[in-house]
Parts: sequence; C-alpha cells; structure tokens
Amino acid sequence: MSEETTTVRPFSAAAFNQYIAEHKLMAARCKKCGGVYVPPRAICPKCHSEELEWIETSGKGKLSAFTVIYSGPTFMVEQGFDRKNPYVSGIVELEEGALISARVLGVDPTKPTEIRIGTPVSVDFVEFGEGEAKKTYLAFKM
Ligand SMILES: [Zn+2]
Repeated sequence: MSEETTTVRPFSAAAFNQYIAEHKLMAARCKKCGGVYVPPRAICPKCHSEELEWIETSGKGKLSAFTVIYSGPTFMVEQGFDRKNPYVSGIVELEEGALISARVLGVDPTKPTEIRIGTPVSVDFVEFGEGEAKKTYLAFKM
C-alpha cells in the first residue's frame, strides 16, 4: 500500500474540520459522476456511488448569498460578536461547483447594501483561542 492510500481520511465532518485546522479546504469528489461536495459525503447524492476521493479545492469562488448575523451561535459570541458587533455569514459557490456557508471577511456588516452577490472571494482561515482550545474556522475574504 502506498503512503497515500494509508492516509486517506474518512469522509466525515471530523476529517473535514481537521483539514480546516491544517488550512486546507478539502472536498469529496465522486469518481463516477464528478460531483464535488463540501462538507464531504460518504455516498454521492447524485449517482449513489461510494467511490469518492478527497480533493483540495482552489479556495476560490463567488458570493452566492449572505446575511448579517446579530445574534450568532455561542462560538461566535465568545469571539465578541453580538448585536452591537455583527458579522456577515455567506454562501459561497466554489469554482469546483460546491456551495458552502462560512463567515465573510473584508466587508462592513453595517453596510449590507454595499455587499454584492457574485463578488469573487477566496478562502481564509480564522483562528481563535490558545493552545489546546485553539480552533480554526473556515471563512472567505473579499
Ligand atoms: Zn456521483
């Protein structure tokens, strides 16, 4: 077995998040129909094939939708976001065709009318916390 074969990770959210911690935006690609999925799927939703492979995406895409979040989940509140300090969450369509939701950086949440659908974005990684508690979050920047 080659080294590559032995290090294949399962198509799970945990494996996906581990890649995020390594600053890699990975997707699962169906070997049969070419469908690309982020987060990964173990079975292709299009053709039901179980033959998928990890690919590293280009990290490039365009903003497909967005919303300004004033009341976020706990891990965002811990980072100091609240009603007075909102953030932007968006859906990004990757060059590879997959849609993914993540935080959008480089935009002014107080001026949502200036945020344009279709704007090119590229992947970024936000780190929060120290040592063992450090977490890496997926984001996109304009
Ligand atoms: Zn497929």
